[in-house]
Amino acid sequence: MLERLSSFLMLILFGLFASQVSASTVAPLVTPSVTLSSTPNNSFLAPQQSFTDWRAGLRMEALSQGITPLLFEQAFAGLTPDPQVIAADQSQPEFSRPVWEYLDSAVSSWRVARGKALLAEHAKTLKAIEAQYQVEPSILVAVWGMESSFGQQIGSKSVIRSLATLAYEGRRNAFWREQLLAALHILQEGDTSINGMIGSWAGAMGQTQFMPTTYRQYAVDFDGDGRRDIWKSSADALASAANYLNLSGWQHGQPWGFEVQLPAQNFDYQLADGAQRKTLKEWRALGVSLRNDEKASRHLDQQSATLFLPSGHQGPAYLFMDNFRSILKYNNSTSYALAIGLLSNTLEGDYRTPAAWPKHDRMLSRQERVELQTLLNQLGFSSGNADGIIGVNSRQAVRSFQQMQGLPADGYPNEALLESVRKVARKTPAQ
Ligand code: CA
Repeated sequence: MLERLSSFLMLILFGLFASQVSASTVAPLVTPSVTLSSTPNNSFLAPQQSFTDWRAGLRMEALSQGITPLLFEQAFAGLTPDPQVIAADQSQPEFSRPVWEYLDSAVSSWRVARGKALLAEHAKTLKAIEAQYQVEPSILVAVWGMESSFGQQIGSKSVIRSLATLAYEGRRNAFWREQLLAALHILQEGDTSINGMIGSWAGAMGQTQFMPTTYRQYAVDFDGDGRRDIWKSSADALASAANYLNLSGWQHGQPWGFEVQLPAQNFDYQLADGAQRKTLKEWRALGVSLRNDEKASRHLDQQSATLFLPSGHQGPAYLFMDNFRSILKYNNSTSYALAIGLLSNTLEGDYRTPAAWPKHDRMLSRQERVELQTLLNQLGFSSGNADGIIGVNSRQAVRSFQQMQGLPADGYPNEALLESVRKVARKTPAQ
C-alpha cells in the first residue's frame, strides 16, 4: 500500500489516464480528486517556514472552520513531520511495472479465492447494499479487494501526521492542507478517534482507502451503529463504496466493457486513444468485434464506448462502456478500472484469458522517457515538458510521429518507438 507512486508512473507510461496520488503497485488507494493537471498554487513554501509557525497558521484556519481548540491540540499533541512520508512522496522509481503484471496481481488466485469466499460470507449484507445503492456485489468485492486486500491492508500510519507532513513539506501543499482540515472535521464529527484514524502514507483511510474529503462526501453508516466506520465495519466500507459508485453514475446490470478484436489490417489506431466515443454498432462497422459474447451484446448496440489499448497495438484491446467511467471516478486510473472489471468478472466465474500481452516489450526507463520527449520536441512534435511522465501531449506527439513514419499510430512509447525516434533525430539537423 505504500508503493502507489510506482503504479502511478506505470499507468502514465502506458498512456493511461492515471492521475492519482499513487502509493501501491497492487492496492491503489482512493484519491479521486487528485490530478496532476490540477496542481494547486502553493500558497507558501514549506521549507521557508518552521513547523511551529506553519502549525500556528493551520490552527487559525482550522479554528475559523469550527474546529475546537481542544480537538486541534489533541490531534497535534507532540506531532512532528514523518520522514517516511516525505521519502514515499519523493520516491521516483526508475522503471515502471508493466500493465500485465499489475493485472495479473489484481486477478491473482489468492484474490479470486478470497473474493469468492467473501461474496458468499457477506451475501446477505451485499444483497441489502445492492438493493439500496444499485451496485452489484462482485464489483464491490473487487473494489474491496483492490483497495485493501478485503480490509487486510488498511495502512497503519496516523492520518493526521501523514497529512500534516505532506501539507507542510510535500508537493501540492494546498491539496494536502484541504485533506488535513477534512480529517480534523471527521474527528470532530465523532466517527472515529485520533488513534483510530489510520491509513496509508498518503492519508487514504480504511477498507475503501477514502481520502478525507471523499469520506466526508460518500461514507455511510450501513450497520446502523450511528458511526461511519470504514476501518472496522466491512458493511460500512462496502456500502460506502457502493454509494460512491452509485453517485458516480453506475448503472446496475450494465457491463463495464469488453475485450475486443481489431481488424488485422488497415485499422486506424488513432481511434484507440481512449477518448473517442462511438456506439457498439459503429465500432462493429469499423471491424471491431467482441472476443466473447458477440451475440449476447447485440442489445447494447446503441450504447457508446471508447476503445483503448493498454499496451499498444500488439496487446489486448478493450471497449469501455459508461460504467467504466464510474470506476474511473472512484480511482482515476485506467489500469485500476480495468483490474476492477476483470476481477469482478472473474468473481462471477467469467474469466476469459485475454489476447497475449507484449511481454517482450521492455519498459522505458525514466531517463529514456525524458530522452524520447526531448527528441520528439526537437523534431517539432509537441511532447510538452520533458519530465519523463508520458501524458496526453506526449502520447499525441508519439501518434503524430508514428503517423509520419507510417507506423501503427497507437501512441504507445516502447523501446522500438524510441529507437525509431532516435534514428530520425540523427538524420535531422538540429534547428
Ligand atoms: Ca457503522
